Amino acid sequence: MPQIMKTFAINTLGCKVNQYESQQIRELLERLGLNFVETADRADLVVINTCCVTHTASAKSRQKIRKAKRQGPDAAIVISGCLPAVQTGELKNLGKNVHVISQRNRLAATLCQIVNCNGDSPKSQEFQAEQNIQIKPVSCAKIKHKNKLDEPLQLTQLTAFKGHTRAFLKVQDGCDGYCSYCIIPKVRPYVHSKPAEAVIEEARALNKAGHKEIVVTGVFLGAYGQESVIRKKWTNGQNDKMADLLDKMGGIPGLARIRLSSLEPGDVTTRLLDVFCKHRNIMPHLHLSLQSGSNEILKKMRRQYSVEEFREKIDLIKSRLDRPAITTDVIVGFPGETDANFNDTIALAKEVGFAKMHIFSFSRRVGTAAARMQDTVNNEVIKRRSQILRDLEAELSYKFRQQFVGKRDTVLVENKNGRCCGRSERYFRIYVENAGKKPEKGELVEVRLIENREDGILGQIETGEVRGFSGINHPGMK
Ligand code: SF4
Repeated sequence: MPQIMKTFAINTLGCKVNQYESQQIRELLERLGLNFVETADRADLVVINTCCVTHTASAKSRQKIRKAKRQGPDAAIVISGCLPAVQTGELKNLGKNVHVISQRNRLAATLCQIVNCNGDSPKSQEFQAEQNIQIKPVSCAKIKHKNKLDEPLQLTQLTAFKGHTRAFLKVQDGCDGYCSYCIIPKVRPYVHSKPAEAVIEEARALNKAGHKEIVVTGVFLGAYGQESVIRKKWTNGQNDKMADLLDKMGGIPGLARIRLSSLEPGDVTTRLLDVFCKHRNIMPHLHLSLQSGSNEILKKMRRQYSVEEFREKIDLIKSRLDRPAITTDVIVGFPGETDANFNDTIALAKEVGFAKMHIFSFSRRVGTAAARMQDTVNNEVIKRRSQILRDLEAELSYKFRQQFVGKRDTVLVENKNGRCCGRSERYFRIYVENAGKKPEKGELVEVRLIENREDGILGQIETGEVRGFSGINHPGMK
């Protein structure tokens, strides 16, 4: 006699958006009466939330699927996320108990059917009554993932971001930008946003659940409130809706920190910076993807900005915020990248003084325009250039942190590997030297920054009341 499902595990690969969606899946399964377990070998149901942004990410996703099958031959396995949207062929014939969800809007309803295929628990009955739905019992092997299901069910807003101090809040999804190296428009083509009221409600709930910091996330965050990410389609080529949303979030009482995940130079407007200056809880940290410091390469990448515009926006940010952390992504070895193009990237990175650079070696992603480009860069050259950039990254991030030695800052405590540490307002790591009682995970403590180290700064807890302010000038004071 088949047993009612009791436990589930989730394996998440990829970006903040995927991590957010995994938490939505967790909340749905918990509401259906299942208990979360850390490892797949103890779970009746395993969800692999996949990523396909690079070939390595796809390979890792497939590896996780194989591992889950080995660890729990009798468990139901659900493959969600981005990989099924592009690689259904490779995900065929994986076995009766493997469910490949290639249409995102089917995920919630399919999960409900899988959980109930052996009968429903009292909690699931409660959930169905609350949602005014009836999940018909269907044998697991007969569940169809493509056909229209009866339940109009979607994943809902989060009430907590379990296991994390910072909570990600997805406010936007989808991209139709078609940068030449990127597969995302094929995987998440539908550009849409969450209404502001829903965002505020969710942010309040996450804050109430103990998350002192919220990271506002989206596939193309700057397109919040728009139906396309293509700026030419926007009125006057500008979008103030992200700034308006941030202004509302900044007013949430008790929310200590808000951070934006990633923007493009075109998203940085005077209005947005006004909002940064208005609210003390918006962190002076902007992640602006550069990808290359050469106009020639940016054009081949089909990015929507030039080096001149990038530089102009950096100047604007620095003129309004106090010593902001500007972090970025760079792709090394894009087809056609010459030494001169690469040197332009180096020069621009030095000029900006990035607080952190995420460096990616270009790799062909089948299905993208760049994969068909002929003028590829030799692997050895890519390796050498990446190393040069990594060395520069270490130098620049150290230099950025150095200016704060001796100042006060707050740290949101994470406690990794038994060490008390966390992120500063400007997102560099702070290692906390204990003075008396060890702070708890998720606590916001005030420290004096005393020593710059290779991968962060050492901070000493300041005695007295924690005010939650850095003592470094207010971003808006300048
Ligand atoms: S803007 Fe470009 S890089 Fe970003 S998701 Fe869209 S296509 Fe990909």
